[in-house]
Amino acid sequence: MLISQQIAEVMHNIENAQQIRRQHNGDSTPVKLVAVTKNHSVEAMQAAIECGITAVGENRIQEALSKQQILCHQVEWHLIGHLQTNKVRQAVGAFQLIHSVDSEKLAVEIDRVAAKKNIRQDVLMQINIGGEETKFGLEPAYFRNFAAFISNLEHVRLCGVMTIAPYYDNVELVRPLFRELYQIYMELKNSQIPNTKVEWLSMGMTNDYKIAIEEGASLIRIGTAIFGSRK
Ligand SMILES: *Cc1c(COP(=O)(O)O)cnc(C)c1O
Repeated sequence: MLISQQIAEVMHNIENAQQIRRQHNGDSTPVKLVAVTKNHSVEAMQAAIECGITAVGENRIQEALSKQQILCHQVEWHLIGHLQTNKVRQAVGAFQLIHSVDSEKLAVEIDRVAAKKNIRQDVLMQINIGGEETKFGLEPAYFRNFAAFISNLEHVRLCGVMTIAPYYDNVELVRPLFRELYQIYMELKNSQIPNTKVEWLSMGMTNDYKIAIEEGASLIRIGTAIFGSRK
């Protein structure tokens, strides 16, 4: 199927899920779609941009930077993959939002590099909501401490939370986990910690984005449903 058709279908599903949410609790928060372009070509990205995609997500710094040389500022760039401390120098300033901040050490390094570059880096804290050993992310119980820690870093701005949910064949099983993350997000938002701007709840991928939106996601990250499967 064509990328344009896939995007139209995703947009349609987003609207449906938003409507379900609105009817359920009156919440009409917009949903931002980040197209996940890892392992996909610049040509495919260009096609998606022509269909109205305004933000892309990449996992690897090197791949993102080389694509940025061609696509430049046509889109917003999001780093969604795990970030190693030794790659921070390249990542800071190259992405509008880094979704994957999951340790104090990493946050401190981002702050140090951002200070040098005289910018402020927007980040999300990644939470391992399913508690899976194979996934990165903070323990959910640690989120208040981590937010307090980041709020003391002058060149890092906490903008919300992100999770990668476990994969279930029965996707309904993910719903309680999304609810839990929504609670965390709302508590952060309402506590108005200085130096933070909590607006993004980044959850939902191809398999589970409809449920994520129903449960309050404000940002979803979709690869396969737009570009087909990755090699
Ligand atoms: C690859 C990836 C996605 C997109 O996954 P799809 O199932 O292809 O939609 C979203 N978020 C992260 C962090 C990813 O690594």
